[in-house]
Amino acid sequence: MRFSDLPERVREVRERIDAAVVRGGHGQRVTVVAVTKTHGPDAAEAAWEAGLPDVGENRVQEAHVLLQVNIVGEATKGGFALETLGAEGERMQALTGLHVRGVMTMAPFDADEGTLRRVFTGARDARATLASAGHDATELSMGMSNDFEIAVEEGATLVRLGTILFGARPA
Ligand SMILES: *Cc1c(COP(=O)(O)O)cnc(C)c1O
Repeated sequence: MRFSDLPERVREVRERIDAAVVRGGHGQRVTVVAVTKTHGPDAAEAAWEAGLPDVGENRVQEAHVLLQVNIVGEATKGGFALETLGAEGERMQALTGLHVRGVMTMAPFDADEGTLRRVFTGARDARATLASAGHDATELSMGMSNDFEIAVEEGATLVRLGTILFGARPA
């Protein structure tokens, strides 16, 4: 069966997350979002059976409820800059039907640890900015297979994991 080792991988990832929460000292709860993109419906079903009800086709998540922030100004990625977020956040307060619940960010793929921490700290600042603008912004979606432990240490409340759970994506 495909993904038969998923329960074991989930257990291992949860242990690593728990240890990172302790190291980081933020005391937050962390939700694992299983990123099933391109793996097909089998992956979503396996995730459900392995106790991961939050399955993310990433684009849907980016579109709804969390604002993507681009902390280091990467040209290849979308997202609000930290500098404009305060004003944008206030503008969005006027939009009924849009509930801004937090931020999501992606670090540069080849970032060193210092850059990762700068990006994740910046995202935390962005969440605080949105909260100051009156949004119920509690979520911090950051951390992928290769950097989730540092993201959790910096306060992530959702980690979006694909490769570490399901293996490399089919080309
Ligand atoms: C693909 C993707 C992920 C998962 O990446 P992995 O490195 O496979 O864990 C997380 N977030 C977003 C936005 C993605 O597009």
